[in-house]
Amino acid sequence: MANVAGWKIALDAGHGGGDPGAVGPTDLYEKDVNLEIAEKVKAMLEEFDVIVNMIRTDDTDINVDDRVEEANNWGADLMISIHQNSSSSTATHCCVAHCHDSNSKNDELAKTIEGQMESILDTYGQKASHQVQDCGLAITDGPNMPSGITEGCFISNPDFEALLKTDEYKTDQAKGIRNGILVYIANQ
Ligand SMILES: [Zn+2]
Repeated sequence: MANVAGWKIALDAGHGGGDPGAVGPTDLYEKDVNLEIAEKVKAMLEEFDVIVNMIRTDDTDINVDDRVEEANNWGADLMISIHQNSSSSTATHCCVAHCHDSNSKNDELAKTIEGQMESILDTYGQKASHQVQDCGLAITDGPNMPSGITEGCFISNPDFEALLKTDEYKTDQAKGIRNGILVYIANQ
């Protein structure tokens, strides 16, 4: 993988502290899963000498504006916010990469991560969907650098909540995100 060393990636594990994010059918908290996956992505990126700044390193709730400010002040080249999705329908199970359309690089980033996540998570029956939209979210509107959100799976789906309790699945979700970041960088 060419020229990935030295890139600065802000990794944001969504939610934390008093904000659990989405909650699964047996009370698995999105905030905990997000942090575990983010830590895996960090370790996987560092194998390629990519420099990672974890916006959240423990179970604390950080204001979204502060997360963005941290990435901007640090001078990140990319910011990725890691989440799981939730739906009132328990049947849904795709992975999604969201981005904000004011930055054309966001679209490329989302498409690339989505494609890499799908190629790994396809073994779990997950298909990707890519949404370029103004989510109205500070986490995608605020960063000065290309940024996006990954929604790895629906924690509201009992099958995927169960998978999210396994190290194997969390590792695979992390590999998809890691590969997406590396492929995006290599294409720049
Ligand atoms: Zn979330």
